[in-house]
Amino acid sequence: MKNLFDLTGKTAIVTGANTGLGQAIAVALAGAGAGIVAVGRSAMDETERLCRDTGVAFRAVQADLSSLEPIDRIVAASAEAGNRIDILVNNAGIIRRADAIDFTEKDWDDVMNVNLKSTFFLSQAVARRMLVDGHGGKIINIASLLSFQGGIRIPSYTASKSGLAGLTRLLACEWAAKGINVNGIAPGYFVTNNTEALRNDPKRSSEILSRIPAGRWGDPGDLGGAAVFLASSAADYVHGIVLPVDGGWLAR
Ligand code: NAD
Repeated sequence: MKNLFDLTGKTAIVTGANTGLGQAIAVALAGAGAGIVAVGRSAMDETERLCRDTGVAFRAVQADLSSLEPIDRIVAASAEAGNRIDILVNNAGIIRRADAIDFTEKDWDDVMNVNLKSTFFLSQAVARRMLVDGHGGKIINIASLLSFQGGIRIPSYTASKSGLAGLTRLLACEWAAKGINVNGIAPGYFVTNNTEALRNDPKRSSEILSRIPAGRWGDPGDLGGAAVFLASSAADYVHGIVLPVDGGWLAR
């Protein structure tokens, strides 16, 4: 039987692939056979080693997604490798913490620019390329529990991730019939830089842990299966979902 999850011969762009969830997603897609174009601000050495260990092609593109400047460059560099772009994972994201009453315009704009604006315009640029190539593709947006819930002290993050869930549905509606699947993954609480402040706060950390049915924080590797699924032909008829991978948090 055909392996529905096989990504051999596919090329995947993963943003923010130098660390955390982006790195784990890149390694999982590579493990399923996809060549990786890793996009990020800093060195990708560790991600490169882990991906190359699986035997796939790897290319790093230095890019700061706080502006739209790198978008065309990312698409051109991915195509230069001689490949179609089959998969885009919009993972790069930032968070700023402060009470809503004190929140600054800069902390609003910085988060919205990376988490929502660049995500939209990179998706647009990649989708244009996919449409020219005529083979369809898969776009996966890394959303959050804050795509469904309010949270506290992270107003721009909640707005961006709630917006990203809506954008995922809109793009799915526009592009499903063109062969492009747009879906999201909502990670729960994972051990990465993004959650360092929470994990260092004993009160918040134990409150969070006691609410997770699985009884533990997520390990970045826990996300790989969902990414491979949504990137693969197993998900050809899946459009516009935001799949929680949260140890049961939303079920509670
Ligand atoms: P992280 O801080 O370790 O990784 C964030 C990644 O985004 C890094 O690779 C970083 O370099 C990249 N990035 C940030 N700003 C960028 C910019 N201007 N240009 C290019 N790259 C940039 O945190 P993470 O937890 O791995 O976060 C990955 C994604 O997962 C984010 O979108 C985050 O919101 C989301 N997320 C994380 C959790 C969690 O529990 N860790 C939960 C829900 C959602």
